[in-house]
Amino acid sequence: VKTITIIGGGLAGTEAAYQLAEHGFNVKLYEMRPDKMTPAHSTGFLGELVCSNSLKSESLSTGSGLLKAELDKLGSIIIKTAQETRVPAGNSLAVDRQALARQLTEIIKQHENIEIINEEIKDIPADRPLIIATGPLTSDSFAQTLMKELVSEELFFYDAIAPVISADSIDYNHCFFKSRYDKGEADYLNCPLDKKTFELFYNELLDAEKVPLKDFEEASVFEACMPLEEMAERGEKTLTFGPLKPVGLDHPDTGDKYYAVLQLRKENKKGTAYNLVGCQTKMKIPEQKRVFRIIPALRNAEFLRYGSIHRNTYINSPLYLANNYRMKEQDIYFAGQITGVEGYIESIASGLTAAYDLIFRLLLDKQLNFPETTALSALQRYVQEYKNKYTPSNFHFGLLPRLEEKIKKKKLKKEKLSERSLKDLQRYWVDNYENRQSSR
Ligand code: FAD
Repeated sequence: VKTITIIGGGLAGTEAAYQLAEHGFNVKLYEMRPDKMTPAHSTGFLGELVCSNSLKSESLSTGSGLLKAELDKLGSIIIKTAQETRVPAGNSLAVDRQALARQLTEIIKQHENIEIINEEIKDIPADRPLIIATGPLTSDSFAQTLMKELVSEELFFYDAIAPVISADSIDYNHCFFKSRYDKGEADYLNCPLDKKTFELFYNELLDAEKVPLKDFEEASVFEACMPLEEMAERGEKTLTFGPLKPVGLDHPDTGDKYYAVLQLRKENKKGTAYNLVGCQTKMKIPEQKRVFRIIPALRNAEFLRYGSIHRNTYINSPLYLANNYRMKEQDIYFAGQITGVEGYIESIASGLTAAYDLIFRLLLDKQLNFPETTALSALQRYVQEYKNKYTPSNFHFGLLPRLEEKIKKKKLKKEKLSERSLKDLQRYWVDNYENRQSSR
């Protein structure tokens, strides 16, 4: 039986470890936590979500919905466990983060084919095949080794996380439960601001002291996780058309309309903590308290976790990676955000793809080629084929080949793309995996 070594028990590493172990491989999984923590993780659990508790929309008219459906079809353990630990959040798959990570850790720990070794890897192990899944917060010493020995060009950008507050500390006289336009369950807690309060909040946000960016001269902030104050600098409307958008959030009883509304989303099943949706920030800690407490519902807010900003490490994948996240000349895979895929689901997807590439090669003696029309294929193509200056990306429909028919309505077009993808994946999987497995 072959042994596969994986470095990093985050989203990509945990998914890969499970899939390989389920196919009879022995897995050595190295994880440095809890002995050595990253700046964003807060537990020693495997598969911990470091920021938002949302794995985004389940609708097949969204890229994240399609990618999740594909992962589910292929038996992703993280998606399955997320479904079991979900908390209400409208169309989105949001989870109790502790419960998800605890349950995943138990599954991996109990697996007879997996050995977990709690140790920080500093040198590149000689073991092959090897999967490197050390994430955007890869430890410094390992990042340096990588640069020296495997990938000479390392890249960085910055990522910001939103604060979490305790449910007890919210002033419920100044907020209400409602979903935008009353679509689905009223899962969000909405904190309205009138014009005067918004202007005060806006100005204080601009003036607040921020954590200065250290270490690197060049800071590029990823659009999808941009700090609130960075958005504010682009103008007031960036907030009232963005994270503080009031449309569809009139008061459910009085019908009152608001100038701006901040939404809170449950952090866990019991609803004891709330995430300030879209409020990732690099304001200093005392400033976060001062500025967010201007919002009437949050005037006594107790912060359980402060927003922060972190370095994000990824390699210049198009230079180094070939099919399915495998290095061009070596039996080494990279998986997760370190490859430049951006996001929880994308990280899971790359871990699963790398694992199945190994399963196909070593067990089924063939090359894994997901149909081009699938999100899984599009994501790994992006990583290996991107031209120009490489920048991380989420999966989105623009990465898929066009439909043959012309469809004007955007939503319908996306649904058709998803339908095509899931149909093609189903056919490919039955022909190349399920039939092969049953004949083995
Ligand atoms: P991780 O889940 O971070 O796993 C990597 C693992 O490797 C960690 O457990 C780490 O402890 C371990 N490790 C690192 N170095 C070593 C070493 N030398 N030896 C042994 N173990 C090591 N995505 C979203 O979709 N939504 C969000 O809200 C979101 N917020 C983010 C906030 C921050 C601050 C950051 C940095 C990223 C965020 N992301 C978010 C992006 C990304 O989806 C997550 O970082 C995701 O966890 C990446 O998965 P991964 O498996 O690549 O890395």
